[in-house]
Amino acid sequence: MAWRVTVDRGRCMGSGICTSLAASSFVLDGERSRPLGGGESTPDETVLDAADSCPAGAITVTEEGRVIGPRD
Ligand code: SF4
Repeated sequence: MAWRVTVDRGRCMGSGICTSLAASSFVLDGERSRPLGGGESTPDETVLDAADSCPAGAITVTEEGRVIGPRD
């Protein structure tokens, strides 16, 4: 089941935490992060870790329209 990953580039501050934690899922582009794979991801714990760790709360992960990351 695919996950949908989005980065709010207006909130992203370019910290690079997500690209460090999940290098196969995020890339810095013009000092802002964007998700790789067109924002589609196979279930991957590192993507949730990145969402949890984003200091700007810019990453959202959904599964079938339900927000699963960041986690509480
Ligand atoms: S962790 Fe958040 S603020 Fe840092 S680069 Fe990724 S999306 Fe941007």
